[in-house]
Amino acid sequence: MTEARKFIAIDGPAGSGKSSVSKEIARRRGYGYLDTGAAYRALAWHVLERGADTADADAVRDAASDFPLDLRLDPDDRRVLVGDVEVTDAIRDPRVSGAVSGVARVPEVRAQVNEMFRRMVAEADRPAVVVEGRDITTVVAPDAPVRILLTAAPEVRAARRAGELAGQDAAAVAEALHKRDASDSNVVDFLNAAPGVDVVDSTHLDFMQTIDAVLAVIQRRRDAEKEPTHG
Ligand code: C5P
Repeated sequence: MTEARKFIAIDGPAGSGKSSVSKEIARRRGYGYLDTGAAYRALAWHVLERGADTADADAVRDAASDFPLDLRLDPDDRRVLVGDVEVTDAIRDPRVSGAVSGVARVPEVRAQVNEMFRRMVAEADRPAVVVEGRDITTVVAPDAPVRILLTAAPEVRAARRAGELAGQDAAAVAEALHKRDASDSNVVDFLNAAPGVDVVDSTHLDFMQTIDAVLAVIQRRRDAEKEPTHG
């Protein structure tokens, strides 16, 4: 199996439900799960830990050249480490969320982590890996047989994220999410589907319905692959 065929590529903005949906699909199917956002977040954490600013591209490149990331493909083992330090919770802090777009905007860093993602998928001892992010369907694995853009209306995404981050002010969460989307969408377009990418809009779907909708796309694409080609 070639590397691209092992990818189930899922992109979408913050709060679209892509992490929880991707994880659950990986669990049900025995696939791996790769949260590419966690890698960007861990690098942002690493830059901040070194006392640098993620707006400084040189500092980001410097930190990326010495970035011992440990990220796993098991949907039930969400631990993230940088060297010996476990950063699983720290990378979800508003401090890191607010800084991560700076890291994501450096082209050399994107190229470096993309290579790492492709290698992880190629080496995975699983039949497929659900890889979720912003540019998986377009840059990391444009040849993947299953490519999905998971979207939801902005107010629904903000409400979901505020629900996940209980204890934080809902208006502040919504503002931070929209700000992050705005800066991220200057780097990659994850609000419009590229040609051949299936859109699943979860605005009016609950979690289980979203899972079913995504599984239906996976099944349809897999069936289409099996059909003999004519001509
Ligand atoms: O998915 P999550 O919200 O955790 O992603 C954190 C950040 O990582 C995004 O806001 C974006 O800046 C960056 N990212 C990216 N490309 C990806 C995944 C995440 O630029 N494929």
